[in-house]
Amino acid sequence: MRDKIVAGNWKMNKKLEEALQLVKELAVSEIDSSIKMIVIPPFPFIHSVVNNVENSTIKVGAQNCAIQASGAYTGEVAAAMLKSVGASYIIVGHSERRLYFNENNSELVEKVNQSLKNDLTPIYCCGELLEERESNNHFKVVESQINEGLFHLSKEELLKSVIAYEPVWAIGTGVTASSEQAQEMHAFIRGLIAQKYGQETAGAISILYGGSCNPKNAKELFALPDVDGGLIGGASLKSDDFVAIANSF
Ligand code: PEP
Repeated sequence: MRDKIVAGNWKMNKKLEEALQLVKELAVSEIDSSIKMIVIPPFPFIHSVVNNVENSTIKVGAQNCAIQASGAYTGEVAAAMLKSVGASYIIVGHSERRLYFNENNSELVEKVNQSLKNDLTPIYCCGELLEERESNNHFKVVESQINEGLFHLSKEELLKSVIAYEPVWAIGTGVTASSEQAQEMHAFIRGLIAQKYGQETAGAISILYGGSCNPKNAKELFALPDVDGGLIGGASLKSDDFVAIANSF
């Protein structure tokens, strides 16, 4: 059985007080014990958020980490630091990082490695731009993102990772991938894993869908055979919506 996961990427939103209010509401909400809920606040809030979910099953992640382990890299945050303040997950290669901060697959390899070295689970993001889908290149794009960013890992390392398929045209747009589009890409990604690591490994990796997932569409998406949950942006900023999504399996 694969982990069922809802991960809330807060991006660059909220002040400390608002962040703690949200997490307090989540911590007392009723969520099925089989669901892994992860909140992913901006760096400055991680430590306080961790302290505020101590008595719940909620885990905390970070939105990024440095490619270096430590040293003279002003403004960067190392995976080891994130581990030391209680993070358990790191988003690697979100499309906003790829697009606005020019992150490429070879840097993402370093971030995946830094995460795993520090006992943090990378949530590795992949997904095509609208023009790449319209030109029928979406499978090729996602295949190279997975190949170049993730397939250097050993089977044991891959099994400690999570993948998020996030079509860029669906992120923050209110346009969600159709069930057919989501399922065929998730099955494609699982097929790539099966080819390289075998069927058993492929069957054990959680692949999350991301892109305008909300309480109205989550049920249909999470019912798809190869969708194991969601990486949620906008709808993770309100506790009612995020809890409703978590309860959509
Ligand atoms: C995201 O940024 O990972 C995301 C899925 O955003 P949204 O849910 O707002 O589309």
